[in-house]
Amino acid sequence: MIPRLFIEQPLSTGSTIAADERAQHYLRNVMRRSAGDPLVLFNGRDGEFEAEIAAIDKRKAEMKVTRLRRAQDGVLDIILCFAPLKKDAIDFLIEKGTELGAAAFQPVITRRTVASRLNLDRLRANAIEAAEQSERLTVPEIRAPLTLEALLSGWQPSRHMILCAEAGPALPIGEAFKALTARVSCPNTWAIFCGPEGGFHVSELDRLRDLPFVTPVGLGPRILRADTAALTALAVFQAILGDGTLRPPHPMTPFGTGAGGEE
Ligand code: SAH
Repeated sequence: MIPRLFIEQPLSTGSTIAADERAQHYLRNVMRRSAGDPLVLFNGRDGEFEAEIAAIDKRKAEMKVTRLRRAQDGVLDIILCFAPLKKDAIDFLIEKGTELGAAAFQPVITRRTVASRLNLDRLRANAIEAAEQSERLTVPEIRAPLTLEALLSGWQPSRHMILCAEAGPALPIGEAFKALTARVSCPNTWAIFCGPEGGFHVSELDRLRDLPFVTPVGLGPRILRADTAALTALAVFQAILGDGTLRPPHPMTPFGTGAGGEE
């Protein structure tokens, strides 16, 4: 398998890049790579590049960028807004939400949020790993938590909010999305908002439902856990309104060999 790494530095053909500690550890100790071995690099801005290890020892690793593999593409602008969850559920949400193409994650403190301290660095590390393995060209942004008040006071009305509403009036999600695609000016910036394990307070649902940029949706007759609900909404969104028609890039082959298949 050719290692695929997210790095912060600028990328361009011909440049040599010093691997940061995380990349060094991964190449040396996890993948046990040596000089001359191929890798793939992306930084979320300059596209994806083929590279090779120029030098590697106990203290450093250098990577030489050899060729552009994929040009940078725009990310579909969909933010996943969610109330902070327990550690396992939130790790799952970030990993799977990254695979499903969320552009950003926005924690929101609602009335029934069981306030838990969020380790944003850990969430970001999860997002990087999931972006690396899912062939994304970007790492989703992990935003600092906001109260519901602050979220709504800073909201751009052009960003359409899909509200996962477990109670009260709501269209089934498939119908709601088809109606949105049929709009003369279908929105092009989006958010999904899912409540905490304890659910939205009825006053929150009423308030959100009345906002002009909100479409409340139902996810069927069962009560889903918050992480399941958010990911279901995101998957259905991608299939109907998002990038579900595109295909993954061609599988990576060892560079220069012209051979099909991986090692
Ligand atoms: N404890 C609550 C359920 C909370 S589920 C109760 O029993 O009513 C957590 C969140 O997932 C909800 O706030 C909602 O945003 C979403 N959700 C779960 N099941 C859903 C469904 N069937 N339809 C729409 N949203 C749902």
